[in-house]
Amino acid sequence: MSQPATQLEQEVRATIPCTDPATGERLGDVPALTHDEVHERIARARKAQVSWRLTPFAERRRVLAHLLEMLLEHADSLCEEICRDAGKTLHNAMLGEIWPLAEKLRWTIAHGETHLRSETVSSGLLQHKRARVEYHPLGVIGVITPWNFPLQNILGPTIPALFAGNAVIIKVSEWTSWSAEPFEQLLHRCLADCGYSADLIQIITGYGDTGAALVSGGVDKIVFTGSMRNGKRVLEDSAKTLTPVILELGGKDPMIVCDDADLDQAAHAAVSAAFIASGQMCLAAERVLVFDAVYDQFIAKVQDITLRMRQDAPLSGKLVDIGAMTMPAQLEIVEELVKDAVAKGASLKAGGRRTKGKPSKHYFEPTILADVTDDMRIMHEETFGPVMSIIRVEDEAQAVAVANETAYGLSSSVFSKDPVRGRRIADQIVAGSTCINDWALMYMVQDLPFGGVKGSGFGRLNGREGLRACTNTKAVVEDRLPIHRAIQLFPGRHHDYDVTREGVRLLYSKGLAKKFDALVGLGKALRKRALS
Ligand code: NAD
Ligand code: MN
Repeated sequence: MSQPATQLEQEVRATIPCTDPATGERLGDVPALTHDEVHERIARARKAQVSWRLTPFAERRRVLAHLLEMLLEHADSLCEEICRDAGKTLHNAMLGEIWPLAEKLRWTIAHGETHLRSETVSSGLLQHKRARVEYHPLGVIGVITPWNFPLQNILGPTIPALFAGNAVIIKVSEWTSWSAEPFEQLLHRCLADCGYSADLIQIITGYGDTGAALVSGGVDKIVFTGSMRNGKRVLEDSAKTLTPVILELGGKDPMIVCDDADLDQAAHAAVSAAFIASGQMCLAAERVLVFDAVYDQFIAKVQDITLRMRQDAPLSGKLVDIGAMTMPAQLEIVEELVKDAVAKGASLKAGGRRTKGKPSKHYFEPTILADVTDDMRIMHEETFGPVMSIIRVEDEAQAVAVANETAYGLSSSVFSKDPVRGRRIADQIVAGSTCINDWALMYMVQDLPFGGVKGSGFGRLNGREGLRACTNTKAVVEDRLPIHRAIQLFPGRHHDYDVTREGVRLLYSKGLAKKFDALVGLGKALRKRALS
C-alpha cells in the first residue's frame, strides 16, 4: 500500500467501517483521507506551528498541565473508547495507557525544559568563543500508529513532539479508527482552552496509503510504530524525500527464568507479559526461556494462574481478565503458529484455539505452549497474540544464545535472585532494553529511552533521547571576547603548511621533549614565513 491508490481504489476505500471486536457490533464509518487531503492537513499544521514554536517552555507546560487535567477528568470515558475500539479490558486501558501517559505528562512538565534548554558547552581551544547546543523544533512531525494501544500510541510521541515546539499529525490504525474522533475532540478542546489552533494536533484516519501520503508529504520527521514489513516500506518512501524516521517495530522478546529465580514473581510476570491486551504488545514476552531445573515447577505455576483467567467482552460489566483480539487477520496468524508448533511436538498446557461461546469470533484462549523448539515457526515469527511459548534451556550460555537468536531486538527480561548473575545475563542480550526481575517496567521510567535494535527498528522515544529526537540539535559558536580579527587563510603564504603542522604537533604531542621540538619547529616555520 505504499503507492498512492488509483482513483477507483480511492472511491471504493473512501471510508473505513469500524467494529467493536469484542461484540462484533458495527460502530459506524470514518473517512479514509486521500493523498491530497493529507497534504492539505500538513500545510495547516505548518501554519499553526509558526506561533507555537515561539512559545516559552512555561507556556507549553501550561498546555500539558491542562491536558493532564483533562486526561484524568475524562479517564473513564477514554478507557471505554479504547476498549470499544480495541477489545481490551478496562483495567488494561487504565494501567497500560492512561497511567503511563499521565506519568509522561508529569515527567515532561517537570523535566522537559532541563533537556531542551540551550546548553553552553566547552569551546575547547577557542577560548575567545562560546559554544552552545540548542534544541530547535523540527516543524511538523508525522506519527503513524498501530492498533494495540489506541490512546498511548497517539499521545506517547505527541507529548514530547508538542513540548519541543512542533505541530503533530497522527495517522491512526484503520483497525482502531472509531476512537479517533473523541480523542481528537479532547485534544482540540485542550488547545482551544489554552488559546491555540486545532491544527496544531490533528488525528487523521485512513489505510496504509493515507500513512504513505503523510510520509511523502514533506513532514520534518516520521515516527512509525508498526510491523517490520511496513516499517521497511516507510523507510523506502522516506528515502525519496530524505525525511528522517524513527521506527518502532515488532519484537520477539525473550524472558529468561534462571534456576535461582523467585518463581512466583517470574510466573506472574510471564502471565502478564503473555496475556495483557491479549498479547498484542510489542513488549510481550514471546519466548520464555526456563532453566531445566525449575522447568516443571514454573509451568505448574503459570498454568495455575492462566486457567483461572476469565475471558469475555470487556464492556459487559463482568470481571474480565482478557478480552478480544483487535484484528481478525492476527487471530489467523496466532492459530497457524500454534497449530504448527503442536504439530512439531510442542505440548499445550492451556488453551490452544479460538474461544467458543463469546459474543464475537475475535477471542483466542490464553494459551501456554511448552517444549517449544527452534524448528517451530513460533520461535521466530511474532505471535502478537495470547500465547506463552516456553523453551527449555540448560544453562546461562544456552539461554543467552537462544535469546539472541532472533531477527528482533526490542526488549528482554531476566529473573534471578543473584544480582550479579542477573546483570551478567542482561549485559549479553542484544536489545533496546532489559528488565531484571520484572517485565516492561522501563516503560514507566520516563527518564529511560525506549526503542529497539535489529529488526525492531531504530531511534528512541521517551526520556531525554526521545525529547531531543523531536528537535534539530543545532550547534552555535559566538563571541565570548570582543576580538574581531579575521582569520586570513587566503591568499596563502609559503610555509603556512609548516606553521600549522608544528602548531598541531605542539598541541598534541606527548611528553615535554616532543613538545619542545615542536616549539622550536614552530619558531623556525614562523620566521621562514615572515621572510618569504
Ligand atoms: P502495521 O504495520 O500493519 O500498521 C501500522 C500503521 O502503519 C497503520 O496505521 C497502517 O495503516 C500504517 N501503514 C501501513 N502501510 C503503510 C505504508 N506503506 N506507509 C505508511 N503507513 C502505513 O502494524 P499493526 O498491525 O497495526 O501493528 C502491529 C505491529 O506493531 C506489531 O509488529 C507490533 O510489534 C508493532 N508495535 C511496535 C511497538 C513499538 O513500540 N516497538 C508498539 C506497538 C506495536
Ligand atoms: Mn476497531
